[in-house]
Amino acid sequence: MKTEKQLITAECANYFREMNGITNYCCLGNGCVFFGEEEKPRCQYFETSVLPLDTDLEFRYRKERMLSTFNLIKSCKRCLEPFAGNNKEKYCKGCKVERKREQKKTHCLQRQSITAVTD
Ligand SMILES: [Zn+2]
Repeated sequence: MKTEKQLITAECANYFREMNGITNYCCLGNGCVFFGEEEKPRCQYFETSVLPLDTDLEFRYRKERMLSTFNLIKSCKRCLEPFAGNNKEKYCKGCKVERKREQKKTHCLQRQSITAVTD
């Protein structure tokens, strides 16, 4: 699993490894709070623009900071289990893998794989 720092160095538009002699520079302040001393730092920009890129991390981040994870909890369309996901995700991790497999199979077998609805 990624850490906030990894996500920031990879994705944050305000983060620079070094700028004007300051390491872990942030365009919005003096330095990136996630590289500072604070144990559970928060950053508005990070939360709205960077964090949603990684649902697992967002879930953990929010939990650690006692923030609501309500909008991150989806119920899986396939097994109906709750899981942490963003709006684009419809299936839990396990089902995502299964779906991929199924889609592959469907692709190979085409219409043969469509099973009849039980009554
Ligand atoms: Zn599922």
